Amino acid sequence: MSPLPRLTNFGRNLSWQPKYFAQPSSEQEVLDLLNQYRGRQIRVIGRLHAWSEAAKCDEVSLDLRNMSSIVLHHEGDDHWVEVGAGCQIKDLIRELDRQGWTLPSVGLIMDQCIAGACATGTHGSGRHSLSHYVQSVRLATYDAETGQAVIRTIDTGNELRAVRCAIGCLGVITSLRLPIRPQYTIRERIRYRQIRTLEAALAAEEEFPLQQFYLYPWLWEYAAQHREEDPDNKRSSVARLYRLYWLLSLDLFLHLEFLFLVRICRGWGIRTLFRSILPRTVIENWVVSDTAYKQLTMQHSLFRHIEIEIFVKRSQLPGMMKFVERFLRLGGGERDALSPDLRTQLEPLGILDELDSFCGQYQHHYPICIRKILPDDTLISMCSSDDEAIYAVSFISYARTNDRAGFLTMANLLARTTAALFNARPHWGKVSPLPPAILNDLYPHLDQFKQIADKFDPKGVFRNDWMRAVLSAADASSTLEKS
Ligand SMILES: Cc1cc2nc3c(=O)[nH]c(=O)nc-3n(C[C@H](O)[C@H](O)[C@H](O)COP(=O)(O)OP(=O)(O)OC[C@H]3O[C@@H](n4cnc5c(N)ncnc54)[C@H](O)[C@@H]3O)c2cc1C
Repeated sequence: MSPLPRLTNFGRNLSWQPKYFAQPSSEQEVLDLLNQYRGRQIRVIGRLHAWSEAAKCDEVSLDLRNMSSIVLHHEGDDHWVEVGAGCQIKDLIRELDRQGWTLPSVGLIMDQCIAGACATGTHGSGRHSLSHYVQSVRLATYDAETGQAVIRTIDTGNELRAVRCAIGCLGVITSLRLPIRPQYTIRERIRYRQIRTLEAALAAEEEFPLQQFYLYPWLWEYAAQHREEDPDNKRSSVARLYRLYWLLSLDLFLHLEFLFLVRICRGWGIRTLFRSILPRTVIENWVVSDTAYKQLTMQHSLFRHIEIEIFVKRSQLPGMMKFVERFLRLGGGERDALSPDLRTQLEPLGILDELDSFCGQYQHHYPICIRKILPDDTLISMCSSDDEAIYAVSFISYARTNDRAGFLTMANLLARTTAALFNARPHWGKVSPLPPAILNDLYPHLDQFKQIADKFDPKGVFRNDWMRAVLSAADASSTLEKS
């Protein structure tokens, strides 16, 4: 083990220097490290793609990239993969693909490691989050009686629901078991003229269950990427051309345009881009089938950015999207964007002065992506829900790393207002600015999660300050219940 200069996350909004850093290659090495550093704060890093403080740790940071084995199992109708926690999703997907299989869900990129993605409830569109699918994990933690590091297998009940999305708080996950399904193809087309409204976007959901859709800021109209499984399971002959079109025109050219407008012109031209140029330049109704993971992902890590994503139940989505429009208009300088009714609703939060000062401080410059996620059987993933599907609404900024004050103010106000008005939960692995006090209302199973975390880790060594604050919300509610 050697001291390390500094760890910096993808968004470059966080950087820290652990006192100790190690890259174990086996479960035995993980156990030895836990025994060696007993009593110190220990956390695992994945690929450092979280913008939140999820991976931060000042004492012992472990990196499990050398634990990346992939073993497929087939028993009757049961098909699953046992995968080392540090395996990057792209390596896993490629190996599964090579053998004719794939994961039930994948996010927009495949750069994360599998344990890191599951730890924060990473999701795509139209399915559950990855966490939901975890069938069992092997977890290195301390034995309560002997204090020695041990491996536990967690495969049932509330402990499984907790460990599926545990933000690193239960211990070191060394491997996971996930179901796999035969590789399939997805048929996709982009539509704007037939969509335009949220109602139209939602109405298409039955026909295109894997769709994701976008709100164009400043035009305030919707466009959709309509997606469905292709029953013929055949790649279109133009699939390669379509991939090239995506790479050149959307992943590269469009993003360079955003970068230019935000970083060089500092906002000038953004409204024109959304109102007049973007809706006319996207090729609509080009129907193409391609391998599922290729359709579902994009080259989204090509340019550095920062993101907040908030999650609401379907019944709250229409109200929230109306609020989002008014809120962003306010940021863009429309002083009367918040109606008197809305101001009355917001008054009890004591936030009106901050909202008034926000006026003119932030011009949103990226399409707002909306994805439906099925309810997760977890305790605290953002999509944990007993009933309705959840919608994730994402806000991305390409401002320079030293010019993000407007975005951060926006994210902070957005999280607080939408949590209060619509019970919106921010992504654990993206910018997550909510004060812990409010988390109890948003996560009804936070108490249960905390009890399990205390059982596995009574001394709290697997928590950093951020997670300690998050879990303190559960303590506060237990105290209230007792009194
Ligand atoms: C460009 C980009 C695109 C993204 N797209 C999406 C998307 O489409 N959908 C979505 O939901 N999210 C998305 N994210 C967010 C991302 O999926 C999450 O932040 C994810 O947690 C990052 O995984 P990581 O491997 O980088 O983990 P890290 O960021 O390094 O760590 C995340 C958490 O995982 C824990 N962890 C990692 N390994 C272990 C282990 N072995 N045992 C215990 N705990 C562990 C860490 O302690 C930490 O708490 C995106 C992020 C970026 C930068």
